[in-house]
Amino acid sequence: MFLKNALDISHKTVKQIVVQGDIVVDATAGNGNDTAFLADLVGDEGKVYAFDIQDKAIENTRKRLTVKNLDKRVILIKDSHENMDKYVPYGVKAVMFNLGYLPGGDHSIGTKPSSTIRAIEKSLALLNPGGIIMMAVYYGGDSGFEEKEAVMEYVKSIDYKKAIVLVHDFVNQINCPPIAICIEKVGL
Ligand code: SAM
Repeated sequence: MFLKNALDISHKTVKQIVVQGDIVVDATAGNGNDTAFLADLVGDEGKVYAFDIQDKAIENTRKRLTVKNLDKRVILIKDSHENMDKYVPYGVKAVMFNLGYLPGGDHSIGTKPSSTIRAIEKSLALLNPGGIIMMAVYYGGDSGFEEKEAVMEYVKSIDYKKAIVLVHDFVNQINCPPIAICIEKVGL
């Protein structure tokens, strides 16, 4: 199956853009799957900045990276992604967001609309033109609908001269399948 899910679309898209030596960001490290995926793509010359607000997520990500011998390519930061500009230099190729809560963790500590939107703004400022933000947005169930609605409203309002926004929505599936949002920076 080619059209698997939002996360798979995120990975396929990022893979087409990111090359060895790039600087990239994982805005929601969680259990480290996306961080490891990005670390693999950027190679020894590149760098991944990975953020999470939970100790458990940072620890899980660190373990995964160490097992895969990818830890030297990653700077792990326990802080909210809305503060990424304090750590990440300008010239980023891709930023990945995997919204929601830590799988296997506390469902009440999930991403929140206001900090997510601030983090998208910061990401847009840090990206090189041609760079992308890729988001998997979960909704329904414990995630609710508020974040998806707020993010959708925000991305629709982005000036088209600054960035192009594409939404992948699985429209004939059941149980609120996550959507994938792709934002390409086109101007400063
Ligand atoms: N990408 C992860 C992976 O590969 O396992 C899964 C991410 S999980 C769906 C969402 C993560 O976002 C949780 O670990 C949660 O702690 C984190 N998170 C929530 N709010 C955040 C914030 N403001 N800044 C950074 N991370 C945040």
